Amino acid sequence: DNKEGELITDVFPQINKGRLHEAIKSAIYHNLASTLSQSLNKSPFPFYSNNIDRNKGIKMQQAIYIVPIKFANLPRHCLLQINDVSLSVSREKLLRNQAVLLREQSYIDSLTGIANRRRFNEYAEEEFLRAKRNKSFFSVMMIDIDHFKLYNDHYGHLNGDQCLKQVANTLAKAIKRPGDLLARYGGEEFSTILPETNYYGAHNIAEIMVNKIQLLHLEHAKSPTSPYVSISIGGTSKIPLNEDNLADIINLADQALYYAKQTGRNRAVFLTT
Ligand code: GH3
Ligand code: MG
Ligand code: MG
Repeated sequence: DNKEGELITDVFPQINKGRLHEAIKSAIYHNLASTLSQSLNKSPFPFYSNNIDRNKGIKMQQAIYIVPIKFANLPRHCLLQINDVSLSVSREKLLRNQAVLLREQSYIDSLTGIANRRRFNEYAEEEFLRAKRNKSFFSVMMIDIDHFKLYNDHYGHLNGDQCLKQVANTLAKAIKRPGDLLARYGGEEFSTILPETNYYGAHNIAEIMVNKIQLLHLEHAKSPTSPYVSISIGGTSKIPLNEDNLADIINLADQALYYAKQTGRNRAVFLTT
């Protein structure tokens, strides 16, 4: 429609006395330019990006530039430039969602792609409580690569990293149930939570892991234990009682790991209480 000569506040009564109205007055009376971002002023004008949005009543997100202009002797006018920023707003939303995703991804160890220690701690606590409630078995294993310092010293840190990846992949294949978790506990140590798994089941998985790592035949020339990379595992299983706490159970698995190291490495040792 031709609205020439009419006041902008008559054409768009909704902007009356708002921030935009103030900005227009500043431009005309004080020769001041300004910008209104969409974040502070959501869609002052009843404009729509497209017909679908119009039918849904979703207004265009608007960034508005207010620029004073003066021609010859005419009174000062002002130019309103309205940019449709709906797209960049939805892009921002996408970025925010991606940030949430990234936070979730920080449950993952970046080198090996398996769960990290943070995830392990949370999951272990959840499953430990569940085992208490359900009076079901709860098994934990700590897994440590044998003589890995010698491996690094001899083959270099980058090869050490490759070795860690291969070990992680192989260990991951040894656990099959959806409730089982394998995590990188730190450095060259891994850990697993096996819910609803008793001593026999856990010990069996531990033996399979030890064998699978040996059978990878990753050369380890400096290892006093084996010509190939090997692991030691310490584990424990129990139906946790109310007075049990997770830290004690993990300590017991650690102690079992220590015995596995003491008694020759390349093996699994389980301790129970
Ligand atoms: P043990 O059989 O008693 O476990 O001996 P070890 O040498 O494996 O034990 P130690 O804890 O003394 O050494 C662990 C080594 O693992 C030290 C460090 O150089 C190496 N390591 C830890 N994290 C990483 C890593 O992310 N990448 C590489 N390449 N090496 C790592
Ligand atoms: Mg270690
Ligand atoms: Mg080690």
